[in-house]
Amino acid sequence: MFDKVLIANRGEIALRIQRACKELGIATVAVHSTADADAMHVKLADETVCIGPPSATESYLNIPSLLAACEISGADALHPGYGFLSENARFADILDEHGITFIGPSAEHIRLMGDKIAAKATAKRLGIPVVPGSPGGVTSEEQAKKIAAEIGYPVLIKAAAGGGGRGMKVATDEEHLSIALSTAKAESKAAFGDDTMYLEKYLGRPRHIEVQVIGDGQGNAVHLGERDCSLQRRHQKVWEEAPSPALNNEQREEIGQIVANATAKLGYSGVGTIEFLYENGEFYFIEMNTRLQVEHPVTEMITGLDIVIEQIRIASGAPLSIRQEDIRLSGHAIECRINAENPSTFMPSPGTISYFHPPGGLGVRVDSGVYAGYTIPAYYDSLIGKLIVHGKNRNECMMRLKRSLGEFVIDGIETTIPLFSALINEQDIVNGLYDIHWLEKYLEKP
Ligand code: ADP
Repeated sequence: MFDKVLIANRGEIALRIQRACKELGIATVAVHSTADADAMHVKLADETVCIGPPSATESYLNIPSLLAACEISGADALHPGYGFLSENARFADILDEHGITFIGPSAEHIRLMGDKIAAKATAKRLGIPVVPGSPGGVTSEEQAKKIAAEIGYPVLIKAAAGGGGRGMKVATDEEHLSIALSTAKAESKAAFGDDTMYLEKYLGRPRHIEVQVIGDGQGNAVHLGERDCSLQRRHQKVWEEAPSPALNNEQREEIGQIVANATAKLGYSGVGTIEFLYENGEFYFIEMNTRLQVEHPVTEMITGLDIVIEQIRIASGAPLSIRQEDIRLSGHAIECRINAENPSTFMPSPGTISYFHPPGGLGVRVDSGVYAGYTIPAYYDSLIGKLIVHGKNRNECMMRLKRSLGEFVIDGIETTIPLFSALINEQDIVNGLYDIHWLEKYLEKP
């Protein structure tokens, strides 16, 4: 096991990883920008290193500074959290060259899954269902038309180098295909420096369902069930729950097994998430995230497993400590992402928190890095915490969520808490009947 782990992140996730390290008896090193000197992850770490000015490119994304921090502190491993350098294969390679363990999968697997066309081809080869589409990049308008005719309109034109929901265009018929293809190509060239495009069947009303996997790179892999993350705004998840209200046990078991087998066959080492769109009873692979995800706690709540501890153990070379038959999914969990934003306009609302009272009681978990008197800097993501609630079933979970939201007080800044208080009263949400477009339509209503 490692002696000392450097956590190359900030906010709630830095604290989350610290907690896992402490329970494993590992010393922690927090890094921070000058804007984060007062952050909770800095106050609670065993050691701290300032790695640069507020701008993330000069601090949390600054590889030479992070290497220097590892050297100064003598850390033998680095946990990247999510975002920042967590899916940067070059960073994983560089750490390896310096004898520091990257707590994550191999650089090779990060690279493979970071290339959307290669990822889809790999998924297909491993028996994971994929969205019908072009086998690789489309090279000409004629080829695009031929493939679109085969898969049927509407089709989605996607940029091979795209990410974060950018670089996509829908074409409803052949006439629109040529214009959409040339605009998408030009946009992708400008945004990503690459104009390789591929085609997929466009799904009209899918849900976003993702499966959590853990592999040890030694031939073992398990799945921890799925999460439903269909409630999104601008492709950003807002509310996540497990299990998905749309699946029955048979479907859950089937997709889980497919994905766990694929993870084992790939020789994947670490935690990962295989994301699907789900429509009319069918799963369609969209991507694999080769890192810990924001929404991992909902899975922890229904499995009782500490995903971060498992991730650290595997990175240190240990085999998986659990077998599929030992994993029991119990009850229901929902996570609400609390952002420092206006709940209607979603304008960021940085500033000083004058009062902070988190909810508590049975089945309630708050993962957050803020406290009363803390000033949220304007430089980073607006996620300030997550409220995660567990209940015996979805109904109990919803009632517990409602009372927890009622107890949650954050004064001095605006947060998205009122949005969740409104959502839990919506009939479609109560019934679990929503797709990936539901929230945007709801927010458009006057
Ligand atoms: P990115 O890497 O940019 O996030 P993804 O392939 O993960 O790209 O897709 C992002 C989002 O775009 C999905 O969550 C979904 O909302 C939408 N999307 C992707 N593929 C399709 C498709 N074939 N049909 C309909 N919507 C899609």
